[in-house]
Amino acid sequence: MIALKIENLSKNFGRTEVLKKINLEINEGNFLVLLGPSGCGKSTLLNIVAGLETIDEGAVFIDDYNVSNVEPKDRNIAMVFQSYALYPSMNVKENITFGLKQSKTPKNKIEEQLKKVSTFLQVDELLNRKPSQLSGGQRQRVAIGRALVREPRIFLFDEPLSNLDAKLRVEMRREIKKIHKKLKTTVVYVTHDQTEAMSLGTNIAIMNHGVIQQCDTPKNIYNKPHNIFVADFIGAPPMNLIQGNFINGNFIPNGSSNIKIPLDKYDFKDSNNSKNEKSIYLGIRPEHIYIDKNNSDYFQISAKSELVEYIGHEQIVTFNYFEQQFLGKFPSTLDINMDKNLKLYIDLNQISLFDKNTKERL
Ligand code: ADP
Ligand code: MG
Repeated sequence: MIALKIENLSKNFGRTEVLKKINLEINEGNFLVLLGPSGCGKSTLLNIVAGLETIDEGAVFIDDYNVSNVEPKDRNIAMVFQSYALYPSMNVKENITFGLKQSKTPKNKIEEQLKKVSTFLQVDELLNRKPSQLSGGQRQRVAIGRALVREPRIFLFDEPLSNLDAKLRVEMRREIKKIHKKLKTTVVYVTHDQTEAMSLGTNIAIMNHGVIQQCDTPKNIYNKPHNIFVADFIGAPPMNLIQGNFINGNFIPNGSSNIKIPLDKYDFKDSNNSKNEKSIYLGIRPEHIYIDKNNSDYFQISAKSELVEYIGHEQIVTFNYFEQQFLGKFPSTLDINMDKNLKLYIDLNQISLFDKNTKERL
């Protein structure tokens, strides 16, 4: 069942087109992450779903019901903000139960919900403290608690972990995942952090300049990016994009004369794409470049090692390939000679091809 549908949604602020014909669907119980660079329109989209921002064109449906003109309080959703937005003069208990009191929930039901949620989030010892007497992580738990007690149809999160330090961010990320696993409530979660998106989302919608670039499972986003923006946005370091030409079923890297990388095993999106000659990018992730040939589908190339970056469990090596740079990622236990022409192997089952003009996946 579709819990939330966004149809042909557009939004302008003055002359700035912030959202351009957005279409999105999210099934009940799924965890959709809106991922994109700062300023791409994520918060605006979330605020529109919450009813905090008006729509210029299009509609928002919750359970097949058009809520575009429904008041925020009547949408049966709860939102958690980056800034926590707790009431400073109220203690934890009052903050968590505020919404329930407003909606005239019976007292015993409020107490029951408070107990359940505060125990679950481990803030039951903190009920009499004011927000100023809490750590960042505790404040965030209270903000989540305030959303949870209402048992909403949909949870909206807007960068809820951005104000926490790195270690706490990872811990809270896991907590949010646990909460979702337990409650199975539909979630829309905004972040600019790709690791957060990958680890939390059952689905990820990647946005850029107010346009959804790809909405897919984390695995498809990573392995089959729809375009160059997605390929370059996801992965650290991102996918290598080697420029060249597609001629007679082979990839000829720019600057080379007699190199032909066979693409006959590549799964073209449209078989017509495999017919015409064109300028393309061959995309290969740094971890799909190997020093040893372990598989018959690995294709041997030769490139010069120029720079090594040791990062603990692995090392990133910069190679020069006909004056184009690409990166390889290897276990740090491997000894790799620098400033040498090395034999490398690329896994042809893991490549992506993009049209250089349209920037779209072939
Ligand atoms: P994100 O959450 O992805 O960082 P936002 O949705 O906050 O992006 O903002 C998208 C764009 O809309 C930005 O260029 C921002 O400056 C602009 N914007 C957001 N809110 C307003 C507003 N109330 N008035 C004018 N411009 C706005
Ligand atoms: Mg934002």
